[in-house]
Amino acid sequence: MLADYHMHTTLCRHAHGTPEEYAAAAVRRGLAEICFTDHVPLDDQKFGPTMLRSEFPVYQEMIARCRATAGLPVLFGIEADFWPEQEFMDLFREWLPAQPFDVVLGSVHAIRGWVYTNGGADLEKWKTVDVAAAWQEYFDLVGQMADTGLFDIVTHLDAPKHSGYWPPAAQIPEIVQPALDRIAAAGMGIELNTSGLIRPCKEIYPSLPILVMARERGIPISFGSDSHGPADLGRYFDQALKLAKAAGYTHCLRMRGRKKQLVPLPHDFAVA
Ligand SMILES: [Zn+2]
Ligand SMILES: [Zn+2]
Repeated sequence: MLADYHMHTTLCRHAHGTPEEYAAAAVRRGLAEICFTDHVPLDDQKFGPTMLRSEFPVYQEMIARCRATAGLPVLFGIEADFWPEQEFMDLFREWLPAQPFDVVLGSVHAIRGWVYTNGGADLEKWKTVDVAAAWQEYFDLVGQMADTGLFDIVTHLDAPKHSGYWPPAAQIPEIVQPALDRIAAAGMGIELNTSGLIRPCKEIYPSLPILVMARERGIPISFGSDSHGPADLGRYFDQALKLAKAAGYTHCLRMRGRKKQLVPLPHDFAVA
């Protein structure tokens, strides 16, 4: 059985469904366990919609309540956006380790304020930038994130491909490998995030060549649907499992209280 370690609740203001509905869907789909990972609470909302800091106890209560009746283990996690600015690092250094999380996902959603997955002017910007340089800058940020030691799993690792802009394939290893080395040195995992399949890139994050390089470094993997509603849970996990095996993986992560453990990959995953 596979676990789904990436989903959002209504507190994010861009997702729907109650935690109980998520748990019921997870049981129906035959998932081993689930972990809620709403975005880290920020009051200024300048980087997009998140829960407010005052809502964090509500988030905790929602998940605790769900745990009491769910027919499977329900983990408490967070998707923490990495911003290199000092104010965030100070916040994260104190706040993240002090919360009772099972899983802290680390994400890089922006390159110097450019939310490269957005539409509109942000999408247009891809036509004007040097794509390889943008990828390089993104993976430097991922490396910086790993160096902090504050996060457990990198989400959607090659997210700059979201809108369908890739550097030449031959350049990808030199761009990605230094970040993978830093992820491995930090003891972090990476996520197979299936939401890429519904984006313009139409690929799981990360691609097979990147996943092979991660496996060569002994970086463990988790699975995440990045669900924004209960219907998304475990979405395309059959394809993600095939991808993991194609890259040579035999095990994946399970977490409790931010401690990692490896379990064997299942033989297959049937999408219910
Ligand atoms: Zn994300
Ligand atoms: Zn997410």
